[in-house]
Amino acid sequence: MGIETDGKIMYLYCDVCGEKAAPDFYTFDDLIAYKRTCGWKSQRRDGEWEDVCPKCQVEKAINTYQTKKTKSHQLIRLVKRAKGIQKYLKQEVE
Ligand SMILES: [Zn+2]
Repeated sequence: MGIETDGKIMYLYCDVCGEKAAPDFYTFDDLIAYKRTCGWKSQRRDGEWEDVCPKCQVEKAINTYQTKKTKSHQLIRLVKRAKGIQKYLKQEVE
């Protein structure tokens, strides 16, 4: 998962839920720009880079939020970064 290519076109997959990003990419720069704009995140786990879609970031943040029972500004910021799902967060967290 993560980034896959058939030699010409690149595809971006979430390493958590396996969902494929809507657009296909012709350059690595386009892919990076998309990730940045749409709130995808690269994180290192067990020495490997994995790509995480905004939805999974929100779910992880909500889980952490509910487990710790505290408000973390970092957490809130992470979730707010995930574009287009603030409303979802509002319903789930507040
Ligand atoms: Zn995901």
